[in-house]
This record gives sequence, C-alpha cells and structure tokens, in this order.
Amino acid sequence: KSIIITFVLFFTAFGFAFAQPGSIPQKVEALVRKMTLAEKIGQLNQYNGDWAATGPVTTDVGNKLDAIKRGEVGSILNIVGVQHTRVFQEAAMQSRLKIPLLFGQDVIHGYSVTFPIPLAEAASWDLAVIERSARIAGTEAAAGGVHWTFAPMVDIARDPRWGRVMEGAGEDPYLGSLIATARVKGFQGKGLGNLDAVMACAKHFTAYGAAIGGRDYNSVDMSLRTLWEVYLPPFKAAVDAGVGTFMNSFNDLNGTPASASHYLQRDILKDKWGFKGFVVSDWGSIGEMINHGYVKDNYDAAEAAINAGNDMDMESRSYINNLAKLVAAKKVSVKTIDEAVSRILTKKYELGLFDDPYRFSNAEREKSMLNTGEHIAAARDAARKSIVLMKNDNQLLPLSKNTGSIALIGPMVKLKKENKGFWSLDVGDESQVVSLYEGMQQQASKTKLLYAKGCDVTDTSRAAFKEAYLTAMQADVVVMAMGERFDMTGEAKSRANIHLPGVQEELIKAIVATGKPVVVLLYAGRPMVFDWTADHAPAILYTWWLGNQAGNAIADVLYGNYNPSAKLPITFPRTEGQIPIYYNHYNTGRPAKTDSDVNYTSAYIDLLNSPKFAFGHGLSYTTFKYDNLKLSKKNMLKDGAITVSFDLQNTGKYPGEEVVQLYLRDIVSQPLRPVKELKDFKKLLLQPGGKKTITFTINKDKLAFYNDQLQWITQPGEFRVMIGSASDDIRLQDSFILAN
Ligand code: BGC
Repeated sequence: KSIIITFVLFFTAFGFAFAQPGSIPQKVEALVRKMTLAEKIGQLNQYNGDWAATGPVTTDVGNKLDAIKRGEVGSILNIVGVQHTRVFQEAAMQSRLKIPLLFGQDVIHGYSVTFPIPLAEAASWDLAVIERSARIAGTEAAAGGVHWTFAPMVDIARDPRWGRVMEGAGEDPYLGSLIATARVKGFQGKGLGNLDAVMACAKHFTAYGAAIGGRDYNSVDMSLRTLWEVYLPPFKAAVDAGVGTFMNSFNDLNGTPASASHYLQRDILKDKWGFKGFVVSDWGSIGEMINHGYVKDNYDAAEAAINAGNDMDMESRSYINNLAKLVAAKKVSVKTIDEAVSRILTKKYELGLFDDPYRFSNAEREKSMLNTGEHIAAARDAARKSIVLMKNDNQLLPLSKNTGSIALIGPMVKLKKENKGFWSLDVGDESQVVSLYEGMQQQASKTKLLYAKGCDVTDTSRAAFKEAYLTAMQADVVVMAMGERFDMTGEAKSRANIHLPGVQEELIKAIVATGKPVVVLLYAGRPMVFDWTADHAPAILYTWWLGNQAGNAIADVLYGNYNPSAKLPITFPRTEGQIPIYYNHYNTGRPAKTDSDVNYTSAYIDLLNSPKFAFGHGLSYTTFKYDNLKLSKKNMLKDGAITVSFDLQNTGKYPGEEVVQLYLRDIVSQPLRPVKELKDFKKLLLQPGGKKTITFTINKDKLAFYNDQLQWITQPGEFRVMIGSASDDIRLQDSFILAN
C-alpha cells in the first residue's frame, strides 16, 4: 500500500499524471525518459569549480570539463564571473543531452557590493532593508553568472562560541523566521524566471546551530519539541516563501547525520511541508558519514543519503562513484533517482536555462549591474541600521560636528578589505571598501583626525600603548576601533574564549585612564565578552562587520547623521561559563529572586544571573516613552483575537526609530513554556515630540505551541502581555485569559 501511496504522491508532486503539454513537469518527464542512468546520476553530482572571478584556475579544470562533456556533472560551485561560467556551460553544451549546468556560490551578504554580515543586518530588525540587501546581492550575482546562492543560513544559534553565528539571524525563532522570509524573497525576487533572480537555499537542515559546546561540525542532541519550537520555524518560513533548495548539515541530530535523515528530509521537508525543490548535501557531508561512524564506506553513504532524500551530492563523489552499483544491487530504486533528477531539472527549467543556457552570461550586463550608485547607497543605509548603541553615558554621542580633534585608536581604524567580513567574495577591488579612517575624513570637516594603532588584534605586547596614550592626550575625544579579526568568525571558527582578544582591553583601560571621553567601537561576528569595557567605557557601539560602506556608516552614526536604531538579535553573556544563555528559557523550580540571589536558587555563586546585554537591547540618541496600554478585551475566545494598543512618544531631541517588541508568556502550561517569547514587533520613526498609537493583534497562532506529542495546540488560561524596548526592558504589561 505504501508503495502505491508513494507512487501517487510522486506523480502528483511532479504533475506527471496531469502535466499540461509544454509545461515544466511535462518537459522534465520527457527529458528524464531520454536519460540513461549514468546521465541521471550525473545530474546529482556537484563539483567545485574553484574559479573565482579574479583568481587563477587552481584545480583540475581540464578534467572537470571532460567530466561535464560526458554528462557526469549537474552543478558547479565556487565559480563566479560570466567569462568563467561560460567556459563550463560550453562544455555542458557538448554533452549528449545538452543539459545546462547550475552554478552555485556562497553569496551570503553581497556579491560585489558587500553588505553587513547577516547577524549584523538581523540587528536592524528592518525586514525591508534585509530584503533589499538580498535583492541587490541576487541582482549582482545573477549578472555575474551565478544561478544559485547557498543562502540564507537560517540556523538558530544560542551559542556565541560557534563561529557561524555571524551567518544567521541570531537566537529567536520568530525574528529568524521573518528574516528567513525576507532573505528568500530578496534573493529570488519576482521568481526564478527573471534575469535578476538567484535561487536561494535554506541551510543547514538542521539544528546545526546547536552543535554541542558551540564547536563547529559537532553533534546535536535535542528534544524533538525544541527542534520543532525553536529550530525548524525559520526553515518552514523559507519553504512558505518559495525557497528553491535546501542544504542539509554536517552535524548528526540525535544520532543520525543530517544527510542520512529520512525524518528531516522526507518526512518533514518533502512530505509534511510539501517542499518541491531539491536538497543538496553540505560540502562532503555524505562521505563524512564514514567518519561519523554511521556507515563503513562511500557506497553505504550514498545509499543512506539518497534514500533519505538528499538529492544532490556536493563534492563527496559518493553518488557519482556508487549510485549505478547501488541501483544494480537494488538498494536504490530508479524511481528514487528519477525523483531526485526531476527535482533538479525542474529548477533548471524554472531558471530558464533550457531556453538559453547562457542567459546569465552577458558581459555587458555584468559590467553595468555591479556596484551601481543605488547598490552602494543601500549598503551604507543597511550598515548604519545594523550598528547597535550598547551604551551612551551622559549622551557622549553623537559627537558635535565642531569637535576640534578626534584620536582614532585601535587595530581596526585603517582596515580596508577586512570590513567585508567572512564569506565575502573576491569580486570588486579594495578601493570600493571605505575604512573607518576614510569615512571619518569625509565627514570631519571641522575636526582634526589623529591616529595611533595601539596594538594589533591578537597582540600580547603593549609596546605601542605609549604612542596611543600620547595621541589620546592631544585629542578632545577618542574613538577606539577594537574587536575580533574578521576571520575569527565564520565556518570552522569556533572560539572557546570569546573575550576581546589580545591586550585590547588593556589598551582600552589605558586610554580611559586619560580621562578623555572615549567611544569604543566593537567589530565582531559574534557577541564578545568585554566586561571591563562595558562597565567603564562611557559609550559603546557594536559595529560588527559592516561591509563596503563600514567607514561611512560608522561616521554617520558617530556624528549623528544617523540615529542608531538596531537591537541585539542575540544575547550577550557576561562570560563564557554562562553559555548557553538566551532570553526565551523556561523557569526553574528555584528561580533567583534577584540577579545575585544564590540562596539555593538556580544560579552561579560567582556570577550574576542576567546576561551582560539582553536580546532586543539597543539604545538611541533620543528617548521613547511607552504609555497607555489597552487590551481590547480581558477574555479571548479560542478562535478569537485581542488587540493590544499603546502610545509611543519620542521624548528626546532627535528624530529616531524605535523597535517596539511584544512578548507573551503562557503563565501556567503543561508542558512548560518560556518565560517570555517575542511574538511581534514594529519599527517606526518618530520626530521629536511625535507620538503614535501602535496596535498588535494576538490570535491563536501567537499562543499555540507543540506539546509532548508534537501536536500544535493552545491551552486555556492566563497569558501575560509585555511590551518593551528590549527583552529586559519591559515598559508595559497586562494579562488576559484564553477561554476553553
Ligand atoms: C558550508 C556551507 C557552504 C558550502 C559551500 C560548506 O563548508 O558549510 O555553508 O555553502 O561549504 O561553500
């Protein structure tokens, strides 16, 4: 019976039974019928092209071109630039069936114009800005010959030791889902048939962000309830937004490597969620199942992966070397192969590659579409909207445009290319990147700029402190540009120690000791620990890695040409021992009554309970007053809704944007619910004195959760409504009852 059901599902999924003449499903079906088994397997195989736009040919390109001509390759990754992609596509056009290649690339935060790293952009909480950045990246990438980006990474991450936190949207499933949607829509634009669209890929499926200890590639052990509540929602959102592909992950989840997980790839993704695109493995992840100890060799690895629903093999060569034998041995059915091939060919048709395999290989377009003024302006806007004002004692910021002199101190001041951050591409040249020094020069018309490096990122020597000290002494204000090197986050960049590296905090101490007003800029791809600085530096801006326009954006914020509006999308711990720490945790039976209550409470005897900076934290140069909370009713019927409204007023001197946040708590629940969960937010601009009434609607969807049987349910009872400026800065609250 199950065979019949699978058969019916399969044929309906691809519309074989009722395919319209001339429709994509029909074309796919006709093509699959013409293909030999070897040609089908070739389509499931992806090789590394290793041919960057500006770089030399570094691999066995000749051999690869031959393999392509023999029909053994369906896709090439790591190749950009129309001149290069064309060479590969021409080889594909010499294969028997002339099936075009698909070119994939990690276009993570920009192609030529580089935008802030994804975690930074998530801090903007500005979905339109996030979508626009992806749109521009997609437009440029498509003009550069790329069909497919391995983005967005939608992994929820609660562990700042994990180097890949920089690639995602932080710790919250609600915010993460909205950002996943915005990025998928941005990359794919009006649809894959358009010349400015790049096919997106939701990765890494799944739970990769929960690698034990924050160590990259590590195992994940997690309750299915947490998986469904916290880690899966952004992936589901990506499917709903029409994402073309999924990538699985390096980790095992509860003992099964993701590449071999039938539960994830077939039961959830393809069956329950109805995903019609294809799944690519992560780099070599099929072959790595041998190291996991899950299979003994590549033959068994290929069998496990394809039967579990992994359609394309990225670089492990397990499929190309074993699938034919597995079919002969009846361990893999031709039907399974056909399903995978059909999914891949469908995307090639949707991208229009069969109509014209060179449609993304137009040198004129490539030239005119990259680095346009509009793209550069958007990158600057996104960058300044990603900067978080962590602290601003006595309103040291913004700096007056009449400031006589500013000492720029620190290892980041003159950096150029590094501002692009990890996962940026070598497209475009360094002159397109604005350093902090250059950005300040642009805007410091009345200010004399002084400079001293003071130390390098990981220096252990204090030899250059003196010069920095003397430079600071000559200035009216000091701006220190400190942090982690750009390549201290990213893949395989987990850190056990996430303190500000080297002697940097010592340098900050020395400069603060001058008594001069000090602004600290922190460049990083993750939350860092910088306890002394947080307590003693009067003003701190978390600037992350902001991309090509970093220097201009930071100068905009320092001089008040832009009033910061970003909010942390991830919790900042006090120290590493507090990790994992996240705002939406459960309560214990012994919660601490105060931050330092250690009287047999769930606490550390040597550390406060609260984080250093909470999820949602971020200040402004102006102040906002929250007032007048009203609930439309105190009792909500199961299928009804409640409207929550309140007034927000800008009570300061500057125009400013505020991100107002709605959190809910299910007071009594079985099983437990988090102490607080973000359920809605709005970002709005108010002029000084300006006031606006804001409304949120709470319906059943915002109250439902997964119970122990993984059913999506609501439970009657009391819910607390909290409105705040951060998860630890709740300004208004009330409660209502959900009826039976
Ligand atoms: C990463 C993926 C990436 C792939 C291709 C892997 O190592 O985990 O995120 O898309 O390489 O570059």
